[in-house]
Amino acid sequence: MKHITQHYINGQFVNSIGQEKFELVNPSTNQVIGTVQLGNEEDARRAIAAAKAAFKAYSRTTIEERAEYLHRLHDAIVARGDDHVRALVEEYGGPVQMAQFLVKASADAILSAKASLPHIPFKEMVGQTEVSLHPVGVAGHITPWNANILYFCNKTAAALAAGCTVVTKPSEMSALQTQLIMECVDAAKLPAGLINIVNGRGDVVGEELTRNPGVAKISFTGSTAIGKHIASAGAATLKRVTLELGGKSAHIVLDDADLHKAMPFILSAGFMNSGQACVAGTRILVPESRRDEITLALKQAVEQIKVGLPEESDTAIGPMVSQKQYQRVQDYIQKGIEEGAEILTGGLGHPEGLESGNFVKPTVFVNVTNDMSIAREEIFGPVLCVMSYKTEQEAIEIANDSPYGLAGYVSSEDVDRARKVAEQMDTGGVSINAFSHTPFAPFGGVKQSGIGRENGTYGIKSYLEYKTIA
Ligand code: NAD
Repeated sequence: MKHITQHYINGQFVNSIGQEKFELVNPSTNQVIGTVQLGNEEDARRAIAAAKAAFKAYSRTTIEERAEYLHRLHDAIVARGDDHVRALVEEYGGPVQMAQFLVKASADAILSAKASLPHIPFKEMVGQTEVSLHPVGVAGHITPWNANILYFCNKTAAALAAGCTVVTKPSEMSALQTQLIMECVDAAKLPAGLINIVNGRGDVVGEELTRNPGVAKISFTGSTAIGKHIASAGAATLKRVTLELGGKSAHIVLDDADLHKAMPFILSAGFMNSGQACVAGTRILVPESRRDEITLALKQAVEQIKVGLPEESDTAIGPMVSQKQYQRVQDYIQKGIEEGAEILTGGLGHPEGLESGNFVKPTVFVNVTNDMSIAREEIFGPVLCVMSYKTEQEAIEIANDSPYGLAGYVSSEDVDRARKVAEQMDTGGVSINAFSHTPFAPFGGVKQSGIGRENGTYGIKSYLEYKTIA
């Protein structure tokens, strides 16, 4: 049982002023494994003041100095790699293979920010005018529970590369993972105040970051509803915002797809991170001419997937993060049934033998129409909707008929044809035939999936503002 009582502010672990205690629960067992003392507005203000004081000197550092700090942070994260994986498995229920990928991707995100730094045009001439780029100020980072370390590393690295200092408020459900991150930040021995981390609730610490005039920019990853709130509350002090929000991504299976290749792609994109992924490809669009063949193959493939304890290396789907999230997924399955969709496999309740944790059955609905809630709303669990289309154009129209626009997927034997389809999908990104991890390419959404981009030079630029001297 671990009790977390401190935040990381101004280069030190400091006791929380906020006194509220929040229980940390292992989602595989629903046993309490620790507590975290949540910060209040005063804790947030102390962290903002530290970041503001540090900004004065840090914003004037050279790119070589920033690169050195990024490298130290990277090395400190890597040194505790196995501990991060264990914390992700225990506190979040992330399947161990996914957890290993996330920790590696997190460390790589720091290196990609470092490698991108020399490509930022910090100073250039436009005719006789000098145009320079400057860090916007203190950055407030607010992150969700589904890949805590990745969001921390990606956002922090971009901000530090730009010359900003940071206050992070991670999800209160990720406190064990956050504690390890704080220890890594401390071990990296960066100048005091560069990175500050405050545990706390969104409507307390997150709200203070959003409203405080000392914060120049908010980078938020989380639900669309909270993202909209942050954009509107942040407008009072004209904060810059990067919002990485929800998704309901379509996977268009073209009529020439080879199912031996397409099926693993459908499953990995659809059930990624136990279905708790913003980029999950959950609307599977299949040609009417091959509907029966594809649904049969999908049923067989899904029934082979192992739902189980996240620490077991062959587990593909672990528990939902909380009982609340388990119930949310159950409610959507119930809604799908009530709306007239048909369960191809899975359904309500726990898988046999996994009753004590937040495990759900991977579920596939057929006879779905795109106006049903299960096709329009983000479920954030392993639930797929299969819809059929008559023509390629109709597939694109169904894919685009969504309030979201984060990711898209296309399966086809003809890559040129798939590319033409991808070009017509209204999303921030599309993967063809395999899920691609692209740390240097811009990541983000259109429509209600967000504003702005992260990763590589694109992410760093979102922390910079132009200045002209004529
Ligand atoms: P959430 O929106 O409930 O919470 C995210 C963060 O916002 C948490 O730290 C929370 O404490 C904080 N928060 C809550 N209320 C706040 C307020 N009033 N002011 C400021 N901060 C506040 O999301 P979640 O349930 O933790 O995560 C799941 C959601 O995140 C899903 O919708 C998912 O699609 C989205 N997500 C998006 C991406 C992406 O990159 N686009 C990645 C992962 C998750």
